[in-house]
Amino acid sequence: MSDQEFHYDVLIVGGGNAACSAAHAALEKTSSVAIIEKSTLRDRGGNSAMTGHIRFVFNGVEDLRPLVRGMSDSELLKLLDCGLPHRTEAEVWDEIMRVTNNQSDQELLQVHVTESLNTVQWLAGKGHDWVPASMTNDNVLTMNGGGAGLQKRNFAILEKAKVAFHYETAGVELIQDGSGRVIGVVALTPQGYARFYAKSVILACGSFEANAEMRARYLGPGWDMVHVRGVPFNTGDGLKMAMDIGAMPHGSWSTCHASPQDIALPKFTVPSVHVHGDSLNRYMYPYGIMVNQNGERFIDEVWETRGRTYASMGRAILGQPGGVAYQILDAKIRDLNLYTSNYRKATHAQADTLEKLGEELGINVPNFVKTVREFNAAVQPGQYNPDRHTLDGKSTKGIYPPKSNYALEIDKGPFEAWPVRCGITFAFGGLKIEAKTGNVQHVAGRPIPGLYAAGEMVGGLFVGGYGSGSGMMSGATFGRIAGTAAGLAAVQN
Ligand SMILES: Cc1cc2nc3c(=O)[nH]c(=O)nc-3n(C[C@H](O)[C@H](O)[C@H](O)COP(=O)(O)OP(=O)(O)OC[C@H]3O[C@@H](n4cnc5c(N)ncnc54)[C@H](O)[C@@H]3O)c2cc1C
Repeated sequence: MSDQEFHYDVLIVGGGNAACSAAHAALEKTSSVAIIEKSTLRDRGGNSAMTGHIRFVFNGVEDLRPLVRGMSDSELLKLLDCGLPHRTEAEVWDEIMRVTNNQSDQELLQVHVTESLNTVQWLAGKGHDWVPASMTNDNVLTMNGGGAGLQKRNFAILEKAKVAFHYETAGVELIQDGSGRVIGVVALTPQGYARFYAKSVILACGSFEANAEMRARYLGPGWDMVHVRGVPFNTGDGLKMAMDIGAMPHGSWSTCHASPQDIALPKFTVPSVHVHGDSLNRYMYPYGIMVNQNGERFIDEVWETRGRTYASMGRAILGQPGGVAYQILDAKIRDLNLYTSNYRKATHAQADTLEKLGEELGINVPNFVKTVREFNAAVQPGQYNPDRHTLDGKSTKGIYPPKSNYALEIDKGPFEAWPVRCGITFAFGGLKIEAKTGNVQHVAGRPIPGLYAAGEMVGGLFVGGYGSGSGMMSGATFGRIAGTAAGLAAVQN
């Protein structure tokens, strides 16, 4: 142990969106706030810096007005005309209950739902703003500059407020006093171990998605070799530190957010390399079909809207031979102009016939051709409407798996294919917190004094499924809540 020692009122472990939101809130109670962050200054920002959007409740133009700059009410109304005139508390509640099979922790969900609009408006008050979202996005507004823009502004605001940032500093162990109160963190710095003492400690250092051993242990066989969509830094350290002193694990430790990614997805991504980590997302699958190397479909591509299915599609792809799938679309879809710019640059194959496409992909050609013919024959008549916010009910009949919506024959060449793999975003298992304070709970059934958690580290909200944009929302909401409670406790202590 080196003799480095630091003292603050509130110490936050991690520097993502949850941590920065916690820091904004803690600053409302005390000026003595510090962040220790494992990454270098260059690669700061966490997964949060590679996101696109945040999903929140709104009831109409009046709720969006405080979030945007330079947009008139008529422009906002036009935006809402796209099929999403509102997203009410009841709708967000129902949506998360639907994607989690009614297993979301109701106390957490209640706070997540009722505090989301307050939280984004509070963030706007700190200096953030929102702009119209892209065409395939399941939200109407997105943070200005995406997650990169949000994090850049967060750091500028917090640095101006004199928050102390310690980079290349990884929290490894919690320090407790004799009563069990958490009074600090031991961290590994470039100069060796240091002790960071604080009246309140907030853990906001991500999940275990970047730890191969923990992925295999909790998510199951095959997950150890999966590529990570985000940063290599979220290795479950905060979860381990907290559970080492008796914190209660909570929620679904065997499920995670994992989505279809370009086959070229690297093992990890850092903010300085991929400012827009979304460029490797392959989320056009609702408009075509997905097949595996055997040339067979393996899942209903549209049992729900894209924003509610993509986070569980990764697991389905990982379960295919070689962990690979192929998204197949035809010229009709290209003509509809639904393709995002991501797809134009993606790893991709194209051919005039299905046989040639199958050969180029190196998959089982007779099976593939048979799959597409059977699929085409099963498509039912009906109005095709690939609206990103709603389902059209145009489905297949008599094949398994069915395609429940947006079913259109794949019959007009050239045919196109995108090979995809599973990319893990974050794991759903986390710590049990008290929903209204973020206070971490002990397995003995009592709160752990002085310890709070936020962001990916909170367990219980997402189970098996997820609604697009909810991770950033949960991070901001529970970060704000933990920062407020931790700041208050620090000044009262
Ligand atoms: C490419 C990509 C796109 C995404 N798009 C969206 C989206 O559009 N909308 C959405 O809602 N969600 C999205 N997500 C999910 C979203 O990023 C997370 O839900 C959210 O960022 C979690 O915030 P966080 O603050 O908990 O974690 P992070 O932002 O990952 O921050 C955790 C921080 O802790 C640091 N850290 C880790 N261990 C330690 C340690 N021992 N000591 C100190 N620091 C440590 C890390 O370096 C990191 O900076 C996306 C994720 C990825 C990877």
